[in-house]
Amino acid sequence: MIICSDVDGVILNYIQGFIDFTRKEKIPYSHNPELYGVISNFPDNLKVRDQFYSGKYLSQLKFYDDSLEILNLLASKHELHLVSALEPEQSKKRVENLKMLNYTTLQCVGDDRKEEIVIEEIQPDVMIEDRPELIEAFHRAGIRVIFPDWHPYTKGMECFATPFSLWNEVPYLLHNSLTTD
Ligand SMILES: [Mg+2]
Repeated sequence: MIICSDVDGVILNYIQGFIDFTRKEKIPYSHNPELYGVISNFPDNLKVRDQFYSGKYLSQLKFYDDSLEILNLLASKHELHLVSALEPEQSKKRVENLKMLNYTTLQCVGDDRKEEIVIEEIQPDVMIEDRPELIEAFHRAGIRVIFPDWHPYTKGMECFATPFSLWNEVPYLLHNSLTTD
């Protein structure tokens, strides 16, 4: 089976990493968990993003519970491709952050190209994704999608994809999705 996974919000806790960054750098910020994404209403969004990316924060994001162990288990039996909407310039930090993970490929492709790379190039049997627009897009492209249900912004995505609450449910979900095909 070919498994493809998004990284931020699924494997790594980008949101908490960003919140920790704003606290350490004393940047006033309150996160709205109902909305996808973190950077929305700063006077200069790109400047804040660059500041976040320039430090060590981006290479030290925390794994969600059990994601590392479960993905390594899956990677021992299947192809595991990781695709991130981070820009290619951030690849080194992403590789550093994921050095314990045994993936087949890792690509940081930028926001604009991610959908196309997954659908046209990787063509996975299962996609793991948290961004609502992409959950819907991958579903429409005929890809089976599963998504973590711990983000309020994925509310309603059950009509396009299968939710999971804990990473240790994922092997069973994938097994079931194979046998019901
Ligand atoms: Mg994501």
